[in-house]
Amino acid sequence: MLNETQTNTIDFDTARAQRNESPARKAATVRSLAELHRLLGQQLQTSLELDRLLSLYLELVSGLIPLDGLGYQHEPTEAAIDLGRNALHRVSYQLSHQTQPLGMLTLWRDRRFDELELNELESTMSCLLYPLTNALLYRRALLAATRDPLTEVGNRTAMTQMLQREVELARRHGLALSVMMLDIDHFKTINDRYGHHQGDEALRQVARLLKGKLRNADMIFRFGGEEFVLLLANTSSEAAAVVGERLRAAVEAFRFEVEDAWVPLSVSLGGATYQSPETPEQLLQRADEALYCAKRSGRNRLSLAAN
Ligand code: GH3
Ligand code: MG
Ligand code: MG
Repeated sequence: MLNETQTNTIDFDTARAQRNESPARKAATVRSLAELHRLLGQQLQTSLELDRLLSLYLELVSGLIPLDGLGYQHEPTEAAIDLGRNALHRVSYQLSHQTQPLGMLTLWRDRRFDELELNELESTMSCLLYPLTNALLYRRALLAATRDPLTEVGNRTAMTQMLQREVELARRHGLALSVMMLDIDHFKTINDRYGHHQGDEALRQVARLLKGKLRNADMIFRFGGEEFVLLLANTSSEAAAVVGERLRAAVEAFRFEVEDAWVPLSVSLGGATYQSPETPEQLLQRADEALYCAKRSGRNRLSLAAN
C-alpha cells in the first residue's frame, strides 16, 4: 500500500503572515477555523509540558480535521512523543522560528489529506509557536538541571531523584532493583600524563560507550568526578552481574586514543540489589562498599554486595 508522505517546512513568521493575509477562504471554513484558532490560543497556553501541549493540540485540531495520531521529535532536547496511532497517510512539518529549529511534527490518519485541510493544518501551526517555544525552553531548563554537561548523562541530582523513585517502586511492587557504582581506574594518571582536556575527553568517551552497552530501561548518571551510577530496574543480582561484566569487558576492550597512541582504560564496579526496607542511601552505600572491595582486590573487576 502506498504511504502518503508530505514534508513541509514551516517558518512560524511566514505561517503567521500567511494566516493574516488569507481572507479568501469559504466563509463556513473560516468560521470553524477561526473557532479552532481561538480554542488553540486559549488552551495551548495552559501547559508547559510538551506531552500535554501536543495532546491538547491533537484533541482540538481533530475536532475540525479528523486525525488519528501525532508524532513529534526535537533532537536538541531529546523529545520523542507519539500520541494516538500511526495510520496510512501522514503530513510532516519541520517547524522553525527565526532559524531556531522547533522540531518535526507529523500528523497521521487513514484518509488522504485534501488541499484545504492541509492549508488549515498549516494555519494551526501559528497557534503552536509561543506555547511550543515555551515548552521547549522549559524542557531545556529541566534538562540543564538534571544533565551533566560534560558527558550528557544524568547528573547527581537526577540520580538522587530516580533512585528515590525506583526504590519506592521496588518496595511497593516487590520488584528487583540493582544499583551499580562504576569508577574509572587510575584516572588521575590520564590527567597527569595527557592533561585535563584529554581526561575530559576520556570521560566523555567512556560515558558514551557505557550508554551504548545498556538497555533502554537502564539509567546511567555521573555521580561526580570519574564515577558513574547505574540504575538497573527489574534486574536481579545475577542479571546485574552479567550487565556489570559486560560493561567491564567493553571498557577493557576499548582503546582511548591520545596523540596517535592507544591508552588502555579499565573500570571497577560495585553492585548491590535492593533489600526491603532499606533506604535509597543504604542501597547506594552498599554498592559503594562493593566498589571499594573491587578496587582493593585489584581493580578492573566487579564486586557484588552480599544479599
Ligand atoms: P582509582 O583507581 O583508585 O579510582 O584511582 P583514580 O586515579 O581514578 O582515583 P582518584 O580519586 O585518585 O582520582 C580521580 C581523578 O579524577 C582526580 C581528579 O582530578 C579527576 N577528575 C575528577 N573530575 C574530573 C573531570 O571532570 N575532568 C577531568 N579531566 N578529571 C577529573
Ligand atoms: Mg578512579
Ligand atoms: Mg573515584
